Amino acid sequence: MFDLGTASAESIPLAVADARQWTFCPRVLWHRRMMPHRVRETAKMALGRDAEAALERLERRRGARRYGLEVASRRFNVRLQSERLGVCGVCDLVLDVAPGAATPGQAHPVEVKRTEGGASGHHTIQLAGYAMLLEEHEARPQGSVDTGFLLLLPEERLVPVKLGTDLRSAFERALQDIRAMLVHERFPPPTKHRAFCAQCEYVRFCGDVL
Ligand code: SF4
Repeated sequence: MFDLGTASAESIPLAVADARQWTFCPRVLWHRRMMPHRVRETAKMALGRDAEAALERLERRRGARRYGLEVASRRFNVRLQSERLGVCGVCDLVLDVAPGAATPGQAHPVEVKRTEGGASGHHTIQLAGYAMLLEEHEARPQGSVDTGFLLLLPEERLVPVKLGTDLRSAFERALQDIRAMLVHERFPPPTKHRAFCAQCEYVRFCGDVL
């Protein structure tokens, strides 16, 4: 359960994944941070863990060409932090393209998702968050991490995502809204994607969704 204490909104530490979760269903964060619920791992949660293991297996078999990059080194489970945003996170994979004679070095965040619905807004907001953290944490120019990738399982489909100002603003707005919810103890609305509620670990605490 989240302890409000005397915390100001800006000082509440958040994770990049919180912005994804908030965009998909704000109530999940309410249940996680404000309520002392005990929940069992659902099949969906187990699949999420399985997706991360699958990424390493896939990446060992394949090279950077599938990303449209000639040469890239790979870093798995990269820990990132932003002092400015008060956010930390672990990016599944970062592709590093070395600088060329006329081109600067480049980094691309990659997130693996096991999903039947294709790439969605909550996935792309999370990638934008990793782009911002990569720039700050590794002292890269602002806006330089301009493209990321979603690797969608089980079909192993790779989706390039442009990480422009709209997505970055949406990520920062989500952080503000989460902090406002925590500070003002405002019970948020349910997800718009009600079809997913039946598989949610908090469904028995959300009386108005089924
Ligand atoms: S049951 Fe539905 S509305 Fe409630 S937390 Fe889960 S996904 Fe959100």
